[in-house]
Amino acid sequence: MSNPLLFIANLCILGCAFVISIFLVSKKNKKEYALKLRIEDSDGRINIAYQQLQVEESRNRALCFKLKRYDALALLTDKLNQNLSLDDTLDTLLNESYAMLGSFEFVGILYLNDAATNTLSLARIKSNSPDTIVKEKNGNIFDQWALKHTQALLVKDTSSDFRFDSERLRNASQRFVGSVIVSPLVSQNRTIGLMHFDSRYLKAFNLEDLRLLNTVADIASVAIDNAQLYQRTRQLAIKDGLTGLYTHKFIIERLEEELKRCMHSGVSISVVMLDIDFFKRYNDQYGHLAGDAVLKNLSVYLGDYFKKHNAIVGRFGGEEFLIILPQAAKQEAYLAAENIRAVIQEKIVMIRRKLTTFTVSMGIACFPQDAQQANELLDKADSALYEAKRTGRNRVCLY
Ligand code: GH3
Ligand code: MG
Ligand code: MG
Repeated sequence: MSNPLLFIANLCILGCAFVISIFLVSKKNKKEYALKLRIEDSDGRINIAYQQLQVEESRNRALCFKLKRYDALALLTDKLNQNLSLDDTLDTLLNESYAMLGSFEFVGILYLNDAATNTLSLARIKSNSPDTIVKEKNGNIFDQWALKHTQALLVKDTSSDFRFDSERLRNASQRFVGSVIVSPLVSQNRTIGLMHFDSRYLKAFNLEDLRLLNTVADIASVAIDNAQLYQRTRQLAIKDGLTGLYTHKFIIERLEEELKRCMHSGVSISVVMLDIDFFKRYNDQYGHLAGDAVLKNLSVYLGDYFKKHNAIVGRFGGEEFLIILPQAAKQEAYLAAENIRAVIQEKIVMIRRKLTTFTVSMGIACFPQDAQQANELLDKADSALYEAKRTGRNRVCLY
């Protein structure tokens, strides 16, 4: 070493450089570490945000599902308000609630309840399997339970619900029922029916479904009650109180409808005007109530007999009846009328232990050969009836 001072100075410079580089490296490490920490922190936040997003998305989905159901409920209410026919109401109700309940394979059943006897009767079935057989025409054990308690029911697993005997259920039904929901239809404190959905799968329904069904049942009860009231009122308007046959006004309307149809299709239609023979005398002899009994009996004979002819039978007035035979030609109508005339003359009406009998006369006219219009056709049938009376009664005359 030629210059020890220079050597020391170099050593010092090297030492300083070493310390500085150590300092710089450690500073860099610290920065990297801090950065790593921040990255980890950010990752954590991203994870939390992602989880929250998933929660929000599932809430959103649930909300959309609920909204869809509310929309469907609003639509159902609209549809039910729009029609008053009981048939349409029941169809709409089952179809819409079936669609609302959604995705599982299940059977939907609507029962109507006879309030007087508290007996359910099957009104509608819907299933996505065409070979579904419902044997329980008056409801199964779940329906009976809901009816008895006037309470909605959710059974997620029928084999493990202690309230119900699953053995009994298996024996009574051909289908396997894994889970079921039932909601009674209650209007003005009367159970007017039941909505029943079951599935062969366990847990096919949840509380949300039951809540929905209860809401549907609330809306539907009023609609069914209204439709039944409307049907009863309509029956009163179109059915005669004493005989249960169609009233004069209604049967004329029906005749006009049938004639319109026949004008298009060109097929014939026959009308039979029927009148009881010497009915005034019968009334005088046995009393007015006995006469009423004859009118009732005659209505049953006519209703039963003409059912197979697809006939429309009405009380035209007093003791006169009108029978419309759609698609019947004159000769066919004559044979039918002659048959029932012969049956009636053999019938015995028991009045105060007395055996009484009565006879009827009939006149027949036919569209299109006798008349084209309803009034004209009725006039012709009436003149044929007059002819039957004039020529001795208890007979059928053709116009
Ligand atoms: P004909 O053989 O010519 O028909 O004689 P008829 O005595 O039956 O004569 P008509 O058809 O004119 O008689 C109608 C009678 O029917 C008069 C009335 O006492 C009776 N009548 C009409 N409506 C009712 C009813 O609702 N109940 C009862 N018991 N009798 C009725
Ligand atoms: Mg008469
Ligand atoms: Mg008469």
